[in-house]
Amino acid sequence: MKRQEIKEILKSDAIGTTIKVSGWVRTKRESKNVNFINLNDGSTINNLQIVADVAVFSEELLRKVTTGAALTVTGELVESGGQQAVELIAKEIDVIGEADPDKYPLQPKRHSLEFLRENAHLRYRTNTFSAIARVRHSMIFAVHKFFTDKGFFNIHTPIITASDAEGAGEMFHVTTLDMANPPRNEDGSINYSEDFFGKQTNLTVSGQLEGELAALALSKIYTFGPTFRAENSNTSRHLAEFWMIEPEMAFYDLNDNMDLAEEFLKYLIKYALDNCAEDLKFLSDRQQQEEKDKPQDQRSMELLEKLKFVAVNDFVRLTYTEAINILKNSKPAKKGKFKYTVEGFGTDLQSEHERYLVEKHFKKPVILIDYPANIKAFYMKVNEDSKTVAAMDVLFPQIGEIIGGSQREERLDVLVEKMKAMDIPLKEMDWYLDTRRYGSVPHSGFGLGFERLITFVTGMGNIRDVIPFPRTPKNCEF
Ligand code: ATP
Ligand code: MN
Repeated sequence: MKRQEIKEILKSDAIGTTIKVSGWVRTKRESKNVNFINLNDGSTINNLQIVADVAVFSEELLRKVTTGAALTVTGELVESGGQQAVELIAKEIDVIGEADPDKYPLQPKRHSLEFLRENAHLRYRTNTFSAIARVRHSMIFAVHKFFTDKGFFNIHTPIITASDAEGAGEMFHVTTLDMANPPRNEDGSINYSEDFFGKQTNLTVSGQLEGELAALALSKIYTFGPTFRAENSNTSRHLAEFWMIEPEMAFYDLNDNMDLAEEFLKYLIKYALDNCAEDLKFLSDRQQQEEKDKPQDQRSMELLEKLKFVAVNDFVRLTYTEAINILKNSKPAKKGKFKYTVEGFGTDLQSEHERYLVEKHFKKPVILIDYPANIKAFYMKVNEDSKTVAAMDVLFPQIGEIIGGSQREERLDVLVEKMKAMDIPLKEMDWYLDTRRYGSVPHSGFGLGFERLITFVTGMGNIRDVIPFPRTPKNCEF
């Protein structure tokens, strides 16, 4: 007999038929005459209840049916009197993989997220992490669908790169040199010409620069790849290894760029609401449970309500300078409640400032544009005021910055001057400058941190819980 997936079984009306399922035991409850076994195969958040008559199965077999054990069960699907619509009356139970209850780390109770992070190799076996995994998958699919439907092409940009123009000390080096005894130049510095690539190489911090090359030929492209940052940020929003989506579009100005970013985020959130309803409901209940411990004024909006709110309301768009004025006149600034003072034009906004604008002042997602040139990257287009650049950051509740983007500087002379002023090695970046030498056009793009999106959509409080194997300072397990 062919095995059926629990998701399909729960949807079917095959009452009275004999079926076969396989999965892992979530819980077992013993009553006088029967054992109730909750089986989950990962196809859905929902379990299939198996009813095992103690008169049919030996005590020895039922003793092996413990949380975490893997079973194949054949039986008759019947209507259920309990919470679920159907249940399976077992005729045959095969314990394919035992899970010694004295050793198996996951007990049929609520574990803390910290405990599960330490046991990340097993955390998929929990409701929370299997729900996150399914939502993550749906969002990956939705990203590709959104761009495909709009005629964008997916480009694979390199993971190992020789350019460190963007990195500014945040890059992981890639080398095959013997670190204990590296070849040296006469001045004592490491001689990278003897390294694998004949030069110093790093893991990429962004696919943008290579993405621009493709956009200036294919018009609309996007990348979706792993990104690495050796920043020592022990926050709930930073990972050392994360995934980023970077669309890049020729003939788009900053307004087109903002429109696309807003449409994209709303599409993804709506996609989750439409396609991940059961998992989101579970995650919402989980969050509500956690919120109970918080004081009333610190509780966040219910998850589904929050997602719908973002999906239907226009984002607020304003300039950096306007934001600075709002922040300077804000209550927390006047009462000295911000950890970082808002001095004025030139202040790099911190997460607390971003969140104040979004959560307290506007109560909506915000797109900030026209940042001071000196706090943003070299490739952003210089505005007419020559003080600001055509940058845009999309700020979300709870997350802060979820997207960073800009219109790019397409004028060769302005770009070269800027690179000189910012000490960007011109010779190394010659390939990039060729785009501005030959057929240069206005173009724009942005980067969405995939895990920041998943953090928002799942309502999880920490980015380490929305990627299967988080890499953070001093932590690289599994
Ligand atoms: P932040 O100020 O929050 O560190 P950033 O300015 O360094 O962000 P960008 O370089 O603009 O971010 O990267 C684009 C997007 O990538 C960000 O908007 C964010 O969603 C995501 N991102 C950046 N750094 C990280 C990180 N360390 N872990 C996870 N996502 C990140
Ligand atoms: Mn950063």
